[in-house]
Amino acid sequence: MSTPYTVNGADSEAGLQQFPDSEEGERRSNMQAWIEAEGYLRRAQRILAVTHLAPDGDAIGSLLAFGHAMQSLGKTVTVACQDPAHSRFDYLHGVHDIRLSGEGNFDLMVSIDASDLQRLGSIFLPVQHGRLPLVVFDHHITNTMFGSVNVVDSSASSSAEVIYRLLRRLDVRIGSEIAAALLTGIITDTLAFRTSSTTPETLSIAMELMRAGASMPEITRRALVLRSYDSIRFLANGIVTSQLEDGIVYATITRKMRKDLGVKEDRGDAGLVGTLITSMEAHVAAVFVELVDGSVEVGLRSAPGYDVSQVAFEFGGGGHAAAAGCTLPGPMRDTVNRVLSRLRRMIRET
Ligand code: 5GP
Ligand code: MN
Repeated sequence: MSTPYTVNGADSEAGLQQFPDSEEGERRSNMQAWIEAEGYLRRAQRILAVTHLAPDGDAIGSLLAFGHAMQSLGKTVTVACQDPAHSRFDYLHGVHDIRLSGEGNFDLMVSIDASDLQRLGSIFLPVQHGRLPLVVFDHHITNTMFGSVNVVDSSASSSAEVIYRLLRRLDVRIGSEIAAALLTGIITDTLAFRTSSTTPETLSIAMELMRAGASMPEITRRALVLRSYDSIRFLANGIVTSQLEDGIVYATITRKMRKDLGVKEDRGDAGLVGTLITSMEAHVAAVFVELVDGSVEVGLRSAPGYDVSQVAFEFGGGGHAAAAGCTLPGPMRDTVNRVLSRLRRMIRET
């Protein structure tokens, strides 16, 4: 079976054109996708499950929950990601079994929480994996539908919510390990139920997961609240050097700043963009992080009523209306100018 992989970036409209044009259409195509996805999973014997590079709590939690569930159904499952999970997720069962390579003999590939193929990074091996059927589970509105089957629910708060529904459909028993993994995904992606993506359904699933043995306070503290002292200094420095112009609050983090602060991680913003968007004056927040190779990682957040997902998508990235991102080739000054001018236009046109 061949897989209709689509490559994002060259034609940024390509993914969006595949969006169903009505809610009813979306509901029907999603029902069909669920049925097909279940069929693939039930038939598979050796599954490779992967998530996006620089994985967050939803990526790790959803991946592990899926892995445990497939194991309970008697499948051989390998979970893998280009980058290791942050040590804050050490409380999750199986987190150290996540492999950093996609090598092996599989009959099905499953991608979780990634909105396009590039987002999988080096874990996707075109020659080996290109022949495998690919089932995509995700909740990003910018998903390019790059799988053979795409279960993409952009109304879900998190991929963990999508995986929860999958496990219910497959009649998988949700024990405390799966519950903790899924609740980690929900809590991190909703910032502890504070985002507009949080629905009564989200809360009801969280309640079920608590009943199944997951500790809400412990997961909130470990996955969301605790940070290293270094990252607090990093954050403080980012806040102090940020600027507010035309309703956009933004900060740039250069390699030198990172080195001077003694930060070990070579990417990520330690939550800076999420802090900047709490400014009452901001319609949009942007953080530009210079990576080791000179490319620039851009994190975007917006206040209610503004949509940064389309802007990120146009630059080859993706995300949600309120939280999105992309990585541009650099250098820093060009990237900042390009992105800020696109954001100003988005604000004008909103
Ligand atoms: P964050 O700023 O927390 O890294 O990302 C916010 C949102 O944007 C997440 O939903 C994340 O998946 C998405 N995102 C961030 N960077 C990229 C990127 O380079 N490509 C894509 N497709 N999505 C991204
Ligand atoms: Mn994620």
